[in-house]
Amino acid sequence: SYDTLIVGAGHGGTQLAVNLHKLKYDGTIGVIGAEPHLPYHRPPLSKDYLSGEKDFERILLRPESFWEAEGLTLMRGRRVTSVDPTAKAVMMDDGETIGYGSLAWATGGMPRMLTCAGYDLPGVHTVRTLSDINAMMDEMAGTKRVAVIGGGYIGLEAAAVLHKLGRDVVLLEAQRHVLSRVAGEPLASFFEKEHRAHGVDLRTGVLVDCIEERDGRAAGVRLADGSIIEADMVIVGIGIVPEVGPLVAAGAEGGNGIVVDEFCRTSLSDVYAIGDCAAHRNVYGEDALIRLESVQNASDMAMTVARGLTGKPQPYEAVPWFWSDQYDLKLQTAGLATGHDTHVLRGDPATRSFSLIYLKGGVVCALDCVNAPKDFVFGRKLVEMRVSAEPERLADTSIELKDLM
Ligand code: FAD
Repeated sequence: SYDTLIVGAGHGGTQLAVNLHKLKYDGTIGVIGAEPHLPYHRPPLSKDYLSGEKDFERILLRPESFWEAEGLTLMRGRRVTSVDPTAKAVMMDDGETIGYGSLAWATGGMPRMLTCAGYDLPGVHTVRTLSDINAMMDEMAGTKRVAVIGGGYIGLEAAAVLHKLGRDVVLLEAQRHVLSRVAGEPLASFFEKEHRAHGVDLRTGVLVDCIEERDGRAAGVRLADGSIIEADMVIVGIGIVPEVGPLVAAGAEGGNGIVVDEFCRTSLSDVYAIGDCAAHRNVYGEDALIRLESVQNASDMAMTVARGLTGKPQPYEAVPWFWSDQYDLKLQTAGLATGHDTHVLRGDPATRSFSLIYLKGGVVCALDCVNAPKDFVFGRKLVEMRVSAEPERLADTSIELKDLM
């Protein structure tokens, strides 16, 4: 039994252990992680790790020695299959039962799978874990042509890296634009142009019918119009499904994510949920439950729970932020654009350094900054301070964003 038991040893789970340690939590901490590896940074999986620029040692969240601290136990390669909130215990896949004083659910999500024929053929890959990427890299030598399904950040990053690795890349997006769930049209168009200029065959508005098979392996993608995209490898990046089954079965409110309040508390007593799997009302969002899939959200929620467990509760109210690297482009976003009514372009996309600023009722609610780190830093402040600004002044690059605060 542990005073605090953390399920999931990804960004949120690890950061919670780190923060409890920093805040001098005096109870025992157990961390259960389904993956066999030491906890690692996930973002490099579709960036520097896939490209071969960083090896596993360089993407560890904490050195191995951290996990040897007194009072801290990391249980790797083990999965929680059910939770008993009355007995305050979790059941493991190997039959063991482990008790808890407080439970933190930090399980992230599983890649959403295609449902069409051929979805599970060898040669079809998802992009979530180190094992996923290692499996992909193992097949790279025999791969000339790759089809990437899904034009979200992960699909676009994978396309950029695979292109850099000398592969022919076709990217297939069902919507009219890439990034349609998260970005304004000018940003989506910019990234589409960039990928095409680099030589990626990017196609939008195309529906996948099935994965083609040859000799028991994926050989390409058949589209709804009957055409076939030949490929030696198929990469599927169409989002995640949060890992919430055991906790929902135990009675926690939730479905697409476990519902949490501003202290990351679930509807079960002494049970918290953080990170990708936590559905919350963000103070910078609309009045709706959302899940955020970002390192920032996992880390800041981990801090919220650590503060609560050490008797210094503070509600979760950090400004959401995120980044994505594609080619030599660094995108940084701040705030939440959902519900915006206007957007303003600051700078010229043709210079490959610009920002797209989103306003709601005249107030800056979000920014997407491409190779514009200063805009990101000060723009994040504008979001935090809920600054009202004239669109003309936001668009005027001779005025620094910091002067609009
Ligand atoms: P995770 O880090 O996914 O950790 C959850 C862990 O829980 C997993 O290891 C899982 O195996 C384990 N688990 C699940 N169920 C159980 C169970 N029942 N028992 C035990 N263990 C369990 N975010 C950014 O901000 N910027 C980026 O550039 C960026 N790039 C990304 C690139 C890729 C390829 C991916 C996949 C994600 C990226 N993200 C990025 C998102 C970011 O990595 C996630 O938001 C973050 O990892 C969420 O942390 P988490 O702790 O909620 O979940």
